[in-house]
Amino acid sequence: MELTSKKFIRSLLKKNEIGARENGRVVGGWRPSKGLGQNFLVSKEILKKIIKAAELKSSDIVLEIGPGIGTLTYELAKRVKKVIAIEKDPNLVRILNNELRIMEIKNVKIIQDDILKIHNSKFMIHNSYKVVANLPYYITSPVIRKFLETENKPKLMVLMVQKEVSQRICPPARAGAKRKMNLLAVSVQFYSKPEIISFVSKKSFWPSPKVDSAILQIAPLINADKKLINADLFFKVVKAGFSQPRKQLLNNFSKGKFKNFTREKIKNWLLVNGIKPEQRAENLSLKDWLNLTRSLPLDV
Ligand code: SAM
Repeated sequence: MELTSKKFIRSLLKKNEIGARENGRVVGGWRPSKGLGQNFLVSKEILKKIIKAAELKSSDIVLEIGPGIGTLTYELAKRVKKVIAIEKDPNLVRILNNELRIMEIKNVKIIQDDILKIHNSKFMIHNSYKVVANLPYYITSPVIRKFLETENKPKLMVLMVQKEVSQRICPPARAGAKRKMNLLAVSVQFYSKPEIISFVSKKSFWPSPKVDSAILQIAPLINADKKLINADLFFKVVKAGFSQPRKQLLNNFSKGKFKNFTREKIKNWLLVNGIKPEQRAENLSLKDWLNLTRSLPLDV
């Protein structure tokens, strides 16, 4: 099977009659669903890079999100003990199950479900697991949050994400360089060590998306949320700071999320931490947020 060949993918979709329909008739030919972010990988080189980044061992249990027609799934299955793949599209589940049966691959379990809705207990039956996925872009943030905020975090995550998202999430490689952060970036850096493995051209997918991508490796830190800081309080501070990202920190913190926190007290608290009250949340580093949480007045 030539799963990275556009011709093969098209013929597979045609054979299985997959395409948009109106009144029961297929319109616009056999094609993948845009709404489900179905951009299939058609580069062997990128496939190899994803596999390498996942640092696979024969004892690994891998959770794959959105296996599609199985391009990544088969490569994972060859190398690990078990692959649990969650796919939302019932048509693709049908294709995959069929192909797996023909190829006599026995260590892959396909679950037809939405990764954002499925309860963790349905797939987190193993204590130790990795997540590998060529993610549909529309679910990048909730997927990352789901796995970093859960009690039983994966050992490693290797995800295909939009290039700009990967650059937002990872701290700049050059020491001293600054990069604007968002809530997701603070959360990822709090819980893990993120790293961009490689940038990926949009031509590596069929159909090509509008923007380039990146392979992002996220290594969750053991006990990150217990590192001398109260994680609930940390995220209360961060969320208050980002409540209106375009507004100044002083205004965001004055909106009553903390009791008895007067504008004067907030000003002092920010200044003591070397932060100007008129700064925006996006210009603060992880270290700034940790310092703010640690120095939060006890009476607020
Ligand atoms: N893994 C394949 C590959 O690399 O070619 C397909 C990747 S494609 C970018 C994303 C896949 O995720 C599609 O198969 C799509 O149907 C599936 N998908 C979309 N939303 C999903 C969701 N909420 N839960 C699970 N799978 C989803």
